[in-house]
Amino acid sequence: MVRRLTEAERAVLEAEFLEKARAEFRRTFSEELRPKMRTFTEKETRCFDAGDSLGRFLLEAQVQEEETARPVKGYVCPDCGGPTEAREDEPPPERALVSRRGAVRFTRPQRACPACRRALFPPRP
Ligand SMILES: [Zn+2]
Repeated sequence: MVRRLTEAERAVLEAEFLEKARAEFRRTFSEELRPKMRTFTEKETRCFDAGDSLGRFLLEAQVQEEETARPVKGYVCPDCGGPTEAREDEPPPERALVSRRGAVRFTRPQRACPACRRALFPPRP
């Protein structure tokens, strides 16, 4: 049961993406980088780095949308079989996946077993 982004959340992400794209464009053509982009290889490196940065943003948004799927109701503790509770009192810890273009960061919703006093990460839906 994957929670999709709402229209408003998607609009916020789109604005962030476009702002990031604008920043990458401006940096690529900045006076600061001009001396470091003389050869084809230097230009190639900078331009593909900019693209990778935007790709990671999109991948993070995709992974986060999946991970934000509502915690599984009725998810029982794998140790004691007791009921678990959603942990929304504190922000979920950040995790990272290594993609072909570098690390992407996301958070996973946590649940807790009151009996075992431990945090749990339900398997992905
Ligand atoms: Zn337990």
